Amino acid sequence: MVGKLDGKVAIITGASSGIGKATAIALAAEGAKVVIAARRVERLEAVAKYITDNGGQALPVIADITDEAQAKNLIQKANAEFGRVDILVNNAGISFPGRIENADPANWRKMIDINVLGLMYTTHSVLPIFKVQKSGHIVNISSVAGRIARAGMAVYNVTKWGVNAFSEALRQEVYQDNIRVTIIEPGLVETEIDQHITDVVAKQEIEARRKAITPLQSEDIAAAIVYAVSQPQHVNVNEILIRPTQQD
Ligand code: NDP
Repeated sequence: MVGKLDGKVAIITGASSGIGKATAIALAAEGAKVVIAARRVERLEAVAKYITDNGGQALPVIADITDEAQAKNLIQKANAEFGRVDILVNNAGISFPGRIENADPANWRKMIDINVLGLMYTTHSVLPIFKVQKSGHIVNISSVAGRIARAGMAVYNVTKWGVNAFSEALRQEVYQDNIRVTIIEPGLVETEIDQHITDVVAKQEIEARRKAITPLQSEDIAAAIVYAVSQPQHVNVNEILIRPTQQD
């Protein structure tokens, strides 16, 4: 397979569904060898089979990225298998919308563990590899919620604001090693993310928002990621904010 990413090795977290799955498929279609990570074995293996059936190369790795050791193992396994890592897409994430006073703080901890700490663990593990290679690209999936706070989204806002802050500080720390950092900020995308919502009112509100417009598809975000990681080495696409046309 020959494409814009021929010979590159990409790790994608949260690749068993939604944006991560579409990104893995899109990167593989451009020739990247993809290491796909998530917790659901069957879903992950189905994605790997789809990619290999279509002429690509995929290594599924079962990993809960909230566990630092599993996050580290994911990065090391990718490097051991393919001898290098070029792209890390930190996509795994979860959202529990709902007003602060009604919230279950356990859901706050889950969001912070996955959206923030998980992304930090994989980043921390990949940096030594990128520094030796003197190249590498980290793509962090943030959100419009990383730029605009909204009632009912406070802690999700915290996590995505955190992703943006971490990404910019990281960029300043690593640019001299030829390492690129990109933030992707999607608006409403039609995925499975709402299925986990426990606050009934918040679930109805977000489903109504999504139904009132034509939402983005995961493939729209995957295309933005392919654009960012396909640029020449001297170009660092720092940030892409991408909303459905009809989103407020
Ligand atoms: P999905 O629910 O479809 O996908 C989430 C992915 O994250 C799944 O593959 C899930 O896999 C994985 N995941 C969750 N927890 C863990 C964990 N602890 N360890 C490893 N993998 C995990 O949602 P989306 O595709 O919508 O979400 C992807 C990203 O996009 C998230 O960061 C989200 O915040 C962001 N985003 C989404 C928007 C939307 O409207 N959908 C808008 C803006 C940003 P598994 O359960 O198998 O582990």
